[in-house]
Amino acid sequence: MTAPTGHAALFERAERVTPGGVHSPVRGFGRVGGTPVFFARGRGAWLIDVDGREYIDLCQSFGPLILGHANPDAARAAHAAIDDGWTFGTTEPYSLALAEWITTRVPWAERIRFVSSGTEAVMTALRVARAATGRARILKFEGCYHGHADAVLVQAGSGLAGATAASSAGVPPSAFRDTLVASLDEEDDLMRLIDATGHDLAAVLVEPLPANHGLLPQRPAWLARVAELARACGALLIFDEVITGFRMGVGGLAGRTGIRPDLVCFGKVIGGGFPVGACAGRADLLDHLAPTGPAYQAGTLSANPVGMRVGLVTLEKVEACDGWRRLEVRTTAFADRLRAAFASRRADLHVTREGSIFWIHTGDADPIRRPDRIPPSHADWFARFFHAALRRGVYLPPSPYEVGFVSLAHDDDTLGLAAERLAAAAAEADT
Ligand SMILES: *Cc1c(COP(=O)(O)O)cnc(C)c1O
Repeated sequence: MTAPTGHAALFERAERVTPGGVHSPVRGFGRVGGTPVFFARGRGAWLIDVDGREYIDLCQSFGPLILGHANPDAARAAHAAIDDGWTFGTTEPYSLALAEWITTRVPWAERIRFVSSGTEAVMTALRVARAATGRARILKFEGCYHGHADAVLVQAGSGLAGATAASSAGVPPSAFRDTLVASLDEEDDLMRLIDATGHDLAAVLVEPLPANHGLLPQRPAWLARVAELARACGALLIFDEVITGFRMGVGGLAGRTGIRPDLVCFGKVIGGGFPVGACAGRADLLDHLAPTGPAYQAGTLSANPVGMRVGLVTLEKVEACDGWRRLEVRTTAFADRLRAAFASRRADLHVTREGSIFWIHTGDADPIRRPDRIPPSHADWFARFFHAALRRGVYLPPSPYEVGFVSLAHDDDTLGLAAERLAAAAAEADT
């Protein structure tokens, strides 16, 4: 489990100047043990560490890199943007091009406001919902992640449905007093909660495909019911598609399910790996934002031209090569190979896959739809599996609860090799 001394030495230095040695918690190896690997370069499906060792990268920066690392067309767009000056703080044609590309393809995104992260996209959507409804409360679901803003960094408490507890220190009760939490894949408590609070509910916020606490596919009928209950009490439906937007097809989960949100949050793929997020939705709702309306929202570097130009090239390329379908075909074959290899080893090892997102987990064969159905023992198994894979040159997200991503740079040969290595890693993890 010990990383080469070079990595350990770098990590020791990093820990001295940065909390935990990382700038985002999941980059640390807290969940899997050992010392994080320092990577120097990325190329297509591969990450290359500071010692020149190559790993098949199935994390892809947690999702944004749908074309893989350092795609040449995306790199050209980035270079061109740098040559032209990288921020103006003015109106410019690049965000206009991306906004038009998106709004012509995603009918429920009539207007769009660009921000710099998924967290900001959710903050903006909540502000719009509260401004538009004049109501204070929001409802979210346990196991859904919506970024690190105070009001959404909560989970259901151990008590009654609807009781909430912060999932972070530094979040005062006053910050989430208006946040209600319900369970995924459950209707009765949800109905009771909405009955009791619906008159003051501004929005129901959901990851339509929860992908931040394992991959927890929801029943389409349940999602439709959530939408119906939200509408019935006059709350807005917000889909947080920061992971799924432009990953699960151009329309994300809304496109796949036919359920139309009032507001939708984007991030990750939309910027092709640069810091871009967006809040989009009905024109009458978005027009509550300043300067049209009274709901203030701003950003010095919002709609940064580098991110706008790389984001547009990324989306154009995926669309032009029928990329979403190709990704689905490849990832299906990859998951099937893994399942076949795992089946001969142990009956409780599964691959849940949706589009080009996958999650390798122990537990039930039926899709796990709620965090409390993940067996507690999964974490220990995953830590062994992760390091066995890492030794074989496969980089998985370093957490039992983070999902993996396939990019268009992962061709069938690379995925075949990854499957072989992961099968061997699974064998080692059980011994
Ligand atoms: C990643 C993610 C966020 C937060 O986005 P950041 O860019 O990390 O702030 C919010 N919601 C969902 C569903 C996400 O996957």
